[in-house]
Formats: sequence, C-alpha cells, structure tokens
Amino acid sequence: MHDTSLASLTRDELVARMKDWGEPAYRADQVLAAMYKRRVASAQEMTDLPLALRDKLAGFPVHPLAPAGESGSTDTTRKFLFRLHDGRYIETVLIPASPALYGSASDRRTLCVSTQVGCAMDCKFCASGLAGFTRNLTADEIVAQVLAVEALADERVQNLVFMGMGEPLANLRNLEKALTILNAPWGLEIGARHMTISTSGLAPAVRKFAAFPLQIRLAISLHGATDDVRSRIMPVNEKWNIATLMESLAEWRRRKKQHLTLEYILIRGVNDDLEQARLLAGHALELRAKVNLIPYNTVEGLAWERPPFRHCETFRRVLTSRGVTATLRREKGHDINAACGQLRLKKEQEEGRNS
Ligand code: SF4
Repeated sequence: MHDTSLASLTRDELVARMKDWGEPAYRADQVLAAMYKRRVASAQEMTDLPLALRDKLAGFPVHPLAPAGESGSTDTTRKFLFRLHDGRYIETVLIPASPALYGSASDRRTLCVSTQVGCAMDCKFCASGLAGFTRNLTADEIVAQVLAVEALADERVQNLVFMGMGEPLANLRNLEKALTILNAPWGLEIGARHMTISTSGLAPAVRKFAAFPLQIRLAISLHGATDDVRSRIMPVNEKWNIATLMESLAEWRRRKKQHLTLEYILIRGVNDDLEQARLLAGHALELRAKVNLIPYNTVEGLAWERPPFRHCETFRRVLTSRGVTATLRREKGHDINAACGQLRLKKEQEEGRNS
C-alpha cells in the first residue's frame, strides 16, 4: 500500500508500529538507520533485523517513487521524472553547483523538489500551471525525491529548494511532515538552513508556516511590484494582494531568524519597467530581503519573452543602487525554470492524460 511506505512514517509513528507488532522501540531505529543512513532499497536488505520482522516489513516499500525517465546531461541540470502509484508523474531537478542564492555553498548541488501534481495557482508564465491541479503529494512522495535522485545520481544532496511543480504552502501538512523527516537526526539530516520553500504568496499559509519550529528559508515569487502588474501574471494576487502578503512576510520576519528572498522573473514588456525596479527595491528594503532576478525562460505554448540581458542588468542596478542585494541569474531551474513541469506534461500527454 502506498500510504504505508516506510518513508511516510516519522520515528514516533514507526515506534508505534513496532509496538503494535510486539517489537521493541530500537527496532524502529534500526529500520530508520537502514533507510536513511545506509540507504537500503528494501526491507530484505535490513540484515540486522530478525528474519521474521524483515518478512513483516517486506510488504512495505521503502518509498513510493518509480524512476520513469531523465533528461539533461551529467554536468548540467538533470531532470528526473518519477511515476507515482496512481500513474501520475512528477519532476525533480538536480541543479549543479548552484550560485549562492539560497545560502548554499557554491560547490554543493541543489535539488529542486515538487510538492504537488500540477498546480492550482495558474501563474501565467509557468508550464506546471498549464494543466491545472491534480493532487497534493504525500510526505513520503516528497521525501522520496531526495532518496531516489541520490540513488540515481550516486551522490548526496545537501541543499533543497521547494520550487518544483506545485505550491508548497498549499500542501502545508504534508510539507511540514516531509521537512521534519528530511531534517531529523534519524532521517536525512539535511540542515534546515539548507532548505528553501518557494511560495507564490499564500499569505495565511505564510503566517501558519511561520510557527513551524525549523529555521527553514522562505522565497517569495513576487514577479510584480504593484498589484496591477502582479495580478496580470499571478492570479493569487487577486486573493492576497501585495499589502496583505507584505504583512504576512513581516510576521515571518518577526518569528524567524532567516532572511527572505524575493524572486522576480523578468518578462519583457510585462514587469521589467524600471519603475517596477524602484518599487521592488522599496519592498525588499522593508523586509530586509534580497532579490533574485531571473530572466524569463521561454515556455512552449506561452507568448512571453525575456528582456535583453543589458536591460536585466540595468534593472538589477536600480536595486543595488538603493542598497538592495540583488542577483541576476542566467539560467537554470523552475521559477528557477519556468519550464519545470514540461517533461511531466509531455509524458502525461503521450499517455492521454492532461489534467
Ligand atoms: S510558478 Fe509555482 S505556484 Fe505558479 S503555477 Fe507554477 S508551480 Fe504553481
């Protein structure tokens, strides 16, 4: 059964399961060590467990993802496609030596993780939103992306950005459980400061997430410095406008030690006016946030274009001249890469699914 893959359980839940089976708590720690430290692929490989317990566990997969394809070369961005138990697909993207955008050391690989199948937010520049929303990923489907990519790429990942398909804060319960497992000493032990959640701006969920105890980083896809510009490309702004979003982010800042990042995709003639840069600088200074500028990546079927590089550089200088830390990214990723979701869309279209 999918919902009982071993990666769906916290330590407490696994201890409870062992207790039900008449096993001592330390058996749970043996299982967790086998999964997350030795990275075994099945219960049969947990050779420090008694045979009878291994047999009992045999009905539970370690995690629920099946590799279904890959694109990209080994020295650049690699996109992994995974098949879910219900025949849906998700993408996870391994980004090489990431620029120090999310506090990551530059020699470390970053994994861009999905949190939903499709997305309901309908951002106008995004391939993931094109086919609409199908469902939330479960906690183990989120955790498993790290386990599965590490196994396929044969390397450890120490930085995660939740910028793949989906709006992470619209799946808050499963996201928080996954973050707990990813961070726990009995789990994958990925430092909270090495995990960045990217949100399109669900203000009430930002407030809720501010109470989550781990010092996770937060990035906000702003993409417009005024409501008229932002609403044109991000329908979420109709529900929670910039003022409401700013209030929720101010609360986040009060409760967290982590700095915020404002993401801003530059789209020619849509949001790249220099007046937007001046207003964006104001928002960033108010939140003491840094800004990542991302020249738009063309998405098949969408009409937007990226501005000339020189203009992007001028936009950036408007920010830095006002004292804002601003980087201009060349390529890569989802928001990192507006093309995220394209591999999955293609696969589902081939199989006659498009919703
Ligand atoms: S940019 Fe992110 S939030 Fe917006 S539609 Fe795409 S996946 Fe969803």
